[in-house]
Amino acid sequence: LEHQLTQSQKMEAIGTLTGGIAHDFNNILTAIIGYSTMMQVQLEEDHPLQGKVSEILRASERAANLTRSLLAYSRKQVTNPAPVGLNAILLNLEVMLRRLIPEHIDFRMELSGEELSVLADSGQIEQVVMNLAVNARDAMASGGILSVATDRIILNQEFVTAHGYGLPGSYALITVADTGIGMDQKTRDRIFEPFFTTKEPGKGTGLGLAMVYGIVKQHSGFINCYSELGHGTVFRIYLPLIDLPARSESMKIEEPVHGGE
Ligand code: ADP
Repeated sequence: LEHQLTQSQKMEAIGTLTGGIAHDFNNILTAIIGYSTMMQVQLEEDHPLQGKVSEILRASERAANLTRSLLAYSRKQVTNPAPVGLNAILLNLEVMLRRLIPEHIDFRMELSGEELSVLADSGQIEQVVMNLAVNARDAMASGGILSVATDRIILNQEFVTAHGYGLPGSYALITVADTGIGMDQKTRDRIFEPFFTTKEPGKGTGLGLAMVYGIVKQHSGFINCYSELGHGTVFRIYLPLIDLPARSESMKIEEPVHGGE
């Protein structure tokens, strides 16, 4: 618990800091990209500087991508949580996921039979699953299986006591599992830290899982990770289920009160 507390405080501080820097940096990049695009247009097509201008543009685009992730991370999110169906969100996302996952990875989506209603910001839930899927893809350079599944699950007191987190109740469970390279204990201990990455410079920002962690927390959910070096990784996300308005005929409808008040 102590670990989680310092972690969210740390994330908040870094979020505020990076938000400010990323914003200013974005303006600077806009100037660099704008002027180099103008140069590219004004120079003769076979001018010897064309290659160099292209390099400037490519590097600036990379920097712009990074600032965009930083801004997304630092933004105090959870705009409009609304009652939504989790399976519907994932079905919507499926096309994009399939585009993201290369051929040599066997992508499976196994959604629960019944829809799972949660109070959530669908954009952010999409972001969570995307970030986990990107990591799973990166962990399976030489192929494997990626599965995204949903379930309805009850956490009882026994589970809560055994794991030391959560509240007993009914949850929607999202499982994202891969058969990739996995992680050792030392890595796993740090994955939710902002800027922690084992990827080469330019490939990873170390913000993906920090973002996932923050979003899950803001949805009153929790996340855990099981991983075995050389075998694969499983992320489980629990989001509290909500009861949709019951359609039962026997439900009493509140009568308007006449007079009084
Ligand atoms: P990034 O992907 O930019 O490195 P993340 O916060 O998303 O940042 O992930 C942090 C680190 O956690 C990764 O660099 C990697 O070492 C590890 N990691 C995350 N997901 C997986 C996975 N599915 N398999 C193996 N390692 C993973």
